[in-house]
Amino acid sequence: MGIDLAADLGVRLPSPLEVVEVEALTERGIRLVLKRDDLIHPDVPGNKWRKLSPNVEAALACGSRTLLTFGGAYSNHIRAVAAAGQLVGLRTIGVIRGEEHTPLNPTLDFAVKHGMRLVYMDRDTYRAKGSDEVIAPLRRKFGDFYLVPEGGSNSLAVRSCMAVPGEIQEPFDLICVPCGTGGTLAGVAAGLPDRAQALGFSALKGGDFLDEDVRDLQVQAFGRTTDNWRIETAYHFGGFAKRKPELVEFIDGFERDHGLRLEWVYVAKMMFGIIDMCRRGAIAPGSTVIAVITGPDA
Ligand SMILES: *Cc1c(COP(=O)(O)O)cnc(C)c1O
Repeated sequence: MGIDLAADLGVRLPSPLEVVEVEALTERGIRLVLKRDDLIHPDVPGNKWRKLSPNVEAALACGSRTLLTFGGAYSNHIRAVAAAGQLVGLRTIGVIRGEEHTPLNPTLDFAVKHGMRLVYMDRDTYRAKGSDEVIAPLRRKFGDFYLVPEGGSNSLAVRSCMAVPGEIQEPFDLICVPCGTGGTLAGVAAGLPDRAQALGFSALKGGDFLDEDVRDLQVQAFGRTTDNWRIETAYHFGGFAKRKPELVEFIDGFERDHGLRLEWVYVAKMMFGIIDMCRRGAIAPGSTVIAVITGPDA
């Protein structure tokens, strides 16, 4: 293909690896290595770069001038689509769940400042966002567009995330990834070497449905599922974009000890979970664990 966004936009790939020394882990002979995908690009970071870049390339390749996508009012995906569109000169439309609230929150304010047109959709209609009944009127209203699903997790996105394990030049036992839609996990697991396992951490309460979603995403992307992953659902801290004092304390402590402020919606919950599972013996002593830092603190 003639379009290589990563080369054009000064993207940092492969993303760097960084060892962190956490006493409770070192005591158990567990080596923890961060895969710093948060450093890939300042405005389209982490798994948002990995998932969006092949879609932007596809949109450009088919001559589309507009990206349209869906998201909640605090969606990192909405933010990243706005930035990516502006970088490559595509118009962007964000269909936001629920009603407009002004002043705009920082996510939507960022999106508008990066040229995104926002439209709001009531929650009932939004639930059917994949259907022709919802998409057809949008096409009538906005003309032709390249559709990126909510969270950006289509087959192109999932296949793109397969590249993560191949960028890691040392042997490891376990790779950990936070989960929203599960698209990143679906791809990362499919790219693993033989003996390694993937562990997803649900950022949502009641994340059991994610198992089926990840299987569906793998079937769509690869025609089959892989049996080298599972999802841990105990570390949601009250639900999506909810936090508790214990989590805030953990984020502050981690920053103090390691100089990295963890993104709190996804990444901090995973890191808390990894360390807790190591303490409990749920991650085997002596393991090498990779933690994918899927995005920066906003
Ligand atoms: C969007 C996002 C996720 C969720 O990724 P999925 O592929 O939807 O599971 C995880 N971490 C961060 C930092 C994100 O912004």
